Amino acid sequence: MTLATEVNIPRLDHIGIAVESIEAALPLYRDGLECEASEPIEAPTEQVRLVMVSTGESRVELLEATSADSPIARFIRKRGQGIHHLAMKVSDLDGVVERLKKSGRRLVTETVQRGGAGDYRYVFVHPKSAGGVLLELIEE
Ligand code: ZN
Repeated sequence: MTLATEVNIPRLDHIGIAVESIEAALPLYRDGLECEASEPIEAPTEQVRLVMVSTGESRVELLEATSADSPIARFIRKRGQGIHHLAMKVSDLDGVVERLKKSGRRLVTETVQRGGAGDYRYVFVHPKSAGGVLLELIEE
């Protein structure tokens, strides 16, 4: 298998975990498991503050709401802390989005968004169209 082919394989980029407090959640990963963690990053478009924890080829994204209207705040009110979404990296986001829409799958937003931690292009597939999982697709 060539490197070019491998780059085109969608891969798990991170698992997003909704937490009430990054300060309370981070020591498990940083001190207990000795993972490297980023500095807190503000993502105003999603009304969250987040920390990325390195776990080899993938990452854990700890998400803390910065406002009561934040999707993360609503998630925690409804279900408590826990796994919020899976994020896959894809090389052709527009092509994937077009295929998903054609097959009738529902996206959380109609269009591809930009922002997040690192100013990338992304979209969320609605859990009702993804086996109960909120699926974030990130452009490579
Ligand atoms: Zn994410």
